[in-house]
Amino acid sequence: MRLIVACPACNRQYDASCYPVGSRFWCHCGAVCNVEQPPAHEAAVVRCSGCGAPRGDGPDCRHCGSSFARYELDLSSICPHCTTRVSDAARFCHSCGLALAAEGSAGELSPYVCPSCDGGQHMHSRALGKDLSLLECSRCAGVWLGRQTFDHVIRRAEEMLTQLPTQAGATPGGDRTVAQAKAVRYRPCPECKALMNRSQYGKFSRVIVDSCKEHGVWLDEGELTQILEWVRSGGLERARAAQHEQRKAELRQAEQSSRYSQARESWSGGDHNTSLGSASLLMRLLG
Ligand SMILES: [Zn+2]
Ligand SMILES: [Zn+2]
Ligand SMILES: [Zn+2]
Ligand SMILES: [Zn+2]
Ligand SMILES: [Zn+2]
Repeated sequence: MRLIVACPACNRQYDASCYPVGSRFWCHCGAVCNVEQPPAHEAAVVRCSGCGAPRGDGPDCRHCGSSFARYELDLSSICPHCTTRVSDAARFCHSCGLALAAEGSAGELSPYVCPSCDGGQHMHSRALGKDLSLLECSRCAGVWLGRQTFDHVIRRAEEMLTQLPTQAGATPGGDRTVAQAKAVRYRPCPECKALMNRSQYGKFSRVIVDSCKEHGVWLDEGELTQILEWVRSGGLERARAAQHEQRKAELRQAEQSSRYSQARESWSGGDHNTSLGSASLLMRLLG
């Protein structure tokens, strides 16, 4: 049977059939959707399941020619709006007329286990646009991004091209910010099981992330959005500038301490640290 879940924030629909009831997943809008088994009920067929037009008297729809009987053979989906039992093949709810258009599957089960939840909670894979995917835990709504995917997502955010969720009303400072850090818990990398590093992303973002140098980055619920907002607001740019200033101060100090040495000449030539590539900078920022 098909389990359609509508996002409580934007009403986007997902086919959550492969999710266990009680689990959660992320909508593309950034809201968290709960997978619940709605209390289904039968309702009179007042609309065509093929085109949504009001039902006439005959056995077939006057507008699209669909047979009403055809849709009544299987009634194992549930309308996420009015909880009427509808056909798996229905494109419209025959009771309330809602268009049933699940945006593909909510995610396939992966062999990787959530590093945050106990009890071997397997993560689901989710597509990020056309070419990328991440893994998410349906219990805690945390996400795992492979190293390359993470770099890619950050680069896109820097270019302001990202299609990622912009969470409405996201609080600047979620559950795990520097200010209110909870008990430190090191988590295992889902891929190699080595305990991950914990560090503040970008030095100034106020978001603590867990990362495995080799494999990727783990972000708790809402943190990806926080990081992307920080990056989009020029956070990495400011971090680079701050690093640059620090480097200059260090150089100045070095110069002062060797004022009468030949160091002075080589210093006046210009600085080399601006050539630092963004990829290697990210690696350094993430520790
Ligand atoms: Zn949504
Ligand atoms: Zn019709
Ligand atoms: Zn309905
Ligand atoms: Zn989890
Ligand atoms: Zn690893």
